[in-house]
Amino acid sequence: MNVIFMGPPGAGKGTQAEKIVDKFQIPHISTGDMFRAALEAKTPLGLKAKEYMDAGALVPDDVTIGIVEERLGQDDCKKGFLLDGFPRTVAQADALTGLLEKLKVRMQGVLNIEVDEAVLLSRLAGRRICQKCGVSYHMVFIPPVKEGVCDKCGGDLYQRNDDSLETAKKRLGVYHQQTQPLISYYQKKGLLKSIQGDQATDKVFEDILVSLAPDS
Ligand code: ADP
Ligand code: ADP
Ligand code: ZN
Repeated sequence: MNVIFMGPPGAGKGTQAEKIVDKFQIPHISTGDMFRAALEAKTPLGLKAKEYMDAGALVPDDVTIGIVEERLGQDDCKKGFLLDGFPRTVAQADALTGLLEKLKVRMQGVLNIEVDEAVLLSRLAGRRICQKCGVSYHMVFIPPVKEGVCDKCGGDLYQRNDDSLETAKKRLGVYHQQTQPLISYYQKKGLLKSIQGDQATDKVFEDILVSLAPDS
């Protein structure tokens, strides 16, 4: 299975990606996670990406396309993959189209997870991430059993720099300007599937599975 998750910051892409990856055993390719890992390791890529991430801006297309191209060329992607948070611009989508043709890979669908803006802001404000395994929690909506500690791996939870209200609002603006045009881009290709993201996580997941069923 080859799938793309699209949607504004806080829509639940990462949360649903965890579930898809568990069920289908395909790699979860999140450009945001890749940049954060590079930053943690203090690589040149990470240090370059940090400027943009902290400002709530997108990392330049050539850098982002380069890391995705390298990642999709790795062996584990032959059994399928889930792209989370890529593409986010028309230039990235065009590059991906070319790349998939080269790799002879067909996408099953582009799932656009939709959530109202007010809900997005409260999701981003309360988001906490596991330092060790990267899973998302929410202080109110999806709290861990023990405050500040990951249920899955015992890692410490932290708040992302770019989830501050000011930067979150900027990211939503960037989403509207640069990423939203991809909805009609993929609609025209007949690949777009809309998912109502403002429901319980298990219900969102059910809807995703239905939309990925071969005859839907
Ligand atoms: P969220 O899931 O909240 O939307 P991500 O973790 O996907 O956030 O992305 C965090 C940041 O990483 C973005 O604000 C941006 O700076 C950078 N980033 C992630 N994916 C891309 C991309 N496809 N193109 C450019 N920048 C990206
Ligand atoms: P994205 O990757 O799209 O930025 P996340 O999966 O990190 O989004 O989710 C953003 C925040 O919202 C996290 O704190 C997460 O725990 C929470 N969240 C995700 N899905 C739901 C949902 N269906 N209902 C309530 N909160 C959710
Ligand atoms: Zn963890």
